Amino acid sequence: KRVGFALVGLGRLSLEQLLPAFAECRQARPVALVSGTPDKARIVAEQHGIRPDALYDYGSFDRIRDNPEVQVVYIVLPNGLHHEFTLRAARSGKHVLCEKPMANTAAEAAEMVQACAAAKVKLMVAYRCQYEPYNRQATDLLRSGELGRPRFIEAVNTQVQGEIDQWRFKKALAGGGALPDIGLYCLNSARFYSGEEPVEVFARIDNPKNDPRYREVEESMAFMLRFPSGLIANCACSYGAHESKDLRVRLEKGWIDVENAFAYEGQSMRVARRAGRAEGIEELRLSQKNQFAAEIDHMAECVLTGHTPRTPGEEGLQDHRIMEALYRSAETGQPVALPAADTLDATR
Ligand code: NAD
Repeated sequence: KRVGFALVGLGRLSLEQLLPAFAECRQARPVALVSGTPDKARIVAEQHGIRPDALYDYGSFDRIRDNPEVQVVYIVLPNGLHHEFTLRAARSGKHVLCEKPMANTAAEAAEMVQACAAAKVKLMVAYRCQYEPYNRQATDLLRSGELGRPRFIEAVNTQVQGEIDQWRFKKALAGGGALPDIGLYCLNSARFYSGEEPVEVFARIDNPKNDPRYREVEESMAFMLRFPSGLIANCACSYGAHESKDLRVRLEKGWIDVENAFAYEGQSMRVARRAGRAEGIEELRLSQKNQFAAEIDHMAECVLTGHTPRTPGEEGLQDHRIMEALYRSAETGQPVALPAADTLDATR
């Protein structure tokens, strides 16, 4: 039997990516919707075979506790609301899948981890790239040691973010600008590719002058992460540069380029290898899979088997700690040291 999900928030991601992705899921199905717009909820429910008595608004959300069909609450609201709805879902005894960034601050993220642990429900952060085949293949190759020691990761995530009238430019709802929204993919990927935790970070912010969109949040950030092995990740994110979402790894005996690493689709991958004096460049073709469906099915599988998700709340919390160090560095102009953490479980 498929695991039942309630989607909270019917914005662009829910309507354009997640609801269509459920059609490709093998273990999950949408069984409830939570929206501030009842008419929209009714139409969407009809399209997806969701019962009309399984529609909630943000006020009546807590009644979800009485709906046994809902096993997982998937929070797809502006970032500033993730904390509140995770706590409410945990109090209702439901497992939580939370969109990235997990929260606005590390303190909120820590509370979310604690609340879900206390309620004995699972908490997963929707880091879709960790469920996407090209990123996983590149990670496996890096960690296999075949290409020797990794020296540099370069990760870029840019896209032009236009209209001023949206929550992404309001600090209370977004937590920050390009960093938590899209730079987070660079940060999280550098960590999951390498399986290491950074020990020092450095960041610079640049905002266009007199642009009202960037009164509260940053437009562009360039940042560097230094890992215990000596690996360095150079990352850049911006709301002011044309779309570009690539990741490259430079290793002792080759390189790995993942084009569109952070995009919804269109990934491709090239690997250069040195063998003796010869150098070969190989283009890898993997079967395209819907990464949202893979991520949702992973959560369903964890509910069915009792396993811990591959991207649990702790993963989001660690990213928030690092993002706070990046903002501190940008403010002071100085590198910021992070406490040494044990390297992540390599089997992740
Ligand atoms: P969106 O603006 O399209 O949708 C947000 C929804 O929240 C809307 O339906 C809106 O009505 C509702 N909402 C409820 N309370 C609100 C409030 N106080 N202010 C504004 N809106 C409110 O946003 P989105 O792009 O769908 O993003 C939602 C979440 O998903 C964010 O956390 C975002 O970071 C994340 N996201 C993730 C990905 C990904 O690839 N994993 C992509 C896009 C967005």
